[in-house]
Amino acid sequence: MNTRLEDTYEILERITDGFFAVDKLWNFTYVNKEAMRLLFCSRDNLIGKNVWQEFPEAVKLQFYEKYHKAIKEQVPVIFDDYFSPLKKWFNVRAYPSSNGLTVYFRDVTLERMEKTEKEQHYRSLFQHNPDAVFSFDLNGNYLSVNPAMEQLLGYSEEEYLQQSFVPLVYEDDMERTVQHYNIAASGTTQRYQTKAIHKNGSIIYVDVTNMPIIINDEVVGVYGIAKDITSRKKSDEALTAKTQQLESFIENNGDAILIFSIQGNVIQVNKAFEDTFGWAKQEILDLKLYQLPIIPSEAFDEVRKFEAEVKNGHHVIRAETTRLRRDGSILNVLLSMSPIKDANDKIDGWSVIIKNITEWKKSQEMLQNTEKLSIAGQLAAGIAHEIRNPITAIKGFIQLINLNIDDYKEYFSIMSSEIQRIEQILSELLILAKPQVSKLEQKEINVLLNQVITLLDTQAILNNVEIVTEFQPGATYIHCDENQLKQVFINFIKNAIEAMPKGGQLVIQIRKVNHDKLNVHFKDEGVGMSKETLSKLGQPFYTTKDKGTGLGYMISKKIIENHFGELYIISEPLKGTTIDVFLPLKP
Ligand code: ADP
Ligand code: MG
Repeated sequence: MNTRLEDTYEILERITDGFFAVDKLWNFTYVNKEAMRLLFCSRDNLIGKNVWQEFPEAVKLQFYEKYHKAIKEQVPVIFDDYFSPLKKWFNVRAYPSSNGLTVYFRDVTLERMEKTEKEQHYRSLFQHNPDAVFSFDLNGNYLSVNPAMEQLLGYSEEEYLQQSFVPLVYEDDMERTVQHYNIAASGTTQRYQTKAIHKNGSIIYVDVTNMPIIINDEVVGVYGIAKDITSRKKSDEALTAKTQQLESFIENNGDAILIFSIQGNVIQVNKAFEDTFGWAKQEILDLKLYQLPIIPSEAFDEVRKFEAEVKNGHHVIRAETTRLRRDGSILNVLLSMSPIKDANDKIDGWSVIIKNITEWKKSQEMLQNTEKLSIAGQLAAGIAHEIRNPITAIKGFIQLINLNIDDYKEYFSIMSSEIQRIEQILSELLILAKPQVSKLEQKEINVLLNQVITLLDTQAILNNVEIVTEFQPGATYIHCDENQLKQVFINFIKNAIEAMPKGGQLVIQIRKVNHDKLNVHFKDEGVGMSKETLSKLGQPFYTTKDKGTGLGYMISKKIIENHFGELYIISEPLKGTTIDVFLPLKP
């Protein structure tokens, strides 16, 4: 028995693990060499002594509990524990025996330290990763999530660990997402984009990588990494929406639009272009500016000028010109050309917008003619009167001459001046009736206005209206279409006369402003205009008169604009109306 025990001890001395045995009262019965080394204690000092008295610190550690468990339940126990007095980690295996407990242990401090260091690395990679990192079991239930994941969808770690990913996926993407997950769970890494639902209900776009967790050649779960790409997706979507808006704006615009590349080729043509000019998109796309079939040869110089403007970064705005339709007819158009700049403010191409104003021009001319006819008609009564008076006088004088020619020489001069007046009125009437041909000439505004007043004087007198003129001395030449300006003055004077049914004074002044402008000022003492009338003034056919046309003011305004002038009006009910026309003076 002893020999066998000795043999056993002999073996125990040689094993590299520490080893000791205690009896049922926890007294040491054996301690091997390695155990002495590990515990810093000689065998003699330990044999027969109580474990818990020799190592009181161990009572509070796992050692105490585990050893008792081994004895009480008669089961082996294995554990790692840190024994602080020795600053060491021990791996311990304790086996119950018939007379106590035998314990093998080994210093695993180094291993443990390495392991914890590694673990810490991984842990830090997990904890501090800006991307959401998480793991699933094979059923898609969360096993771990990092703080970025808590942030991503707004759930706490605990809330994640009680569920699978399924309720967090946006419905539309569910099938696809589950499929990717399943492929990852069967061993193949997946990367995809999907939509998740934040705890607050909002939708989060995520870029997800799912990879299998493989232990001993077997997939035991799935790792996930998710990046929030919501803002990228949103700005992509916003950009797409903007682009679509712009496309639709161009395509559905009522004006013809062409877009040129910086190389000068047409890269876009809209529907209105096809409708306006009769060419199909395919026939126009890719053409160079000068190959476009819509430019009449006489417009080439102008096009060259516009092109240079735009290439220098300037805009051409509503230039009035002509273009050709496919059928050879000529269109009146307003043409705007603008450079298109890229994000770096570099010119990247240009756009051309062509507004077809052919119809509009026709109707404008028609309106002008209508108004002219109407004024002529209204003037007819006055003119008839005007002509009848001198004729009556002439008739009378002729009768007198018949009686005694020598005594009435003086009458001849009166007669000839009256006849002159008839001629003057008739010539005005003829100018007014002539079709509109716009021709610009240097004209003296004073003379022009005097002629108009002569024409309307009779009507003024019939209405008890006194026309007072205050013309600043000096020549006032204006580059203008005489007939058009006359029409403006006729309209304003007629309106003033009509506004004073009980008579009154109309003051007309001409004066220079700032050497480069001429101001023609009309001030009447008429009925004035209500706010409503003022706001509607200039709308065609807006009139407050029984026999009015509501065209006079509108046409006058248009003519003044054509002469690069300005028009201002001030009016108060019952007080009167003041109209100021400003026209540029040209040398
Ligand atoms: P019409 O005189 O034929 O009605 P207009 O275009 O010349 O058309 O004028 C439009 C309206 O503006 C007139 O009906 C009138 O109500 C108002 N209006 C124009 N000028 C005057 C004015 N000097 N005083 C008062 N009302 C005026
Ligand atoms: Mg009028």
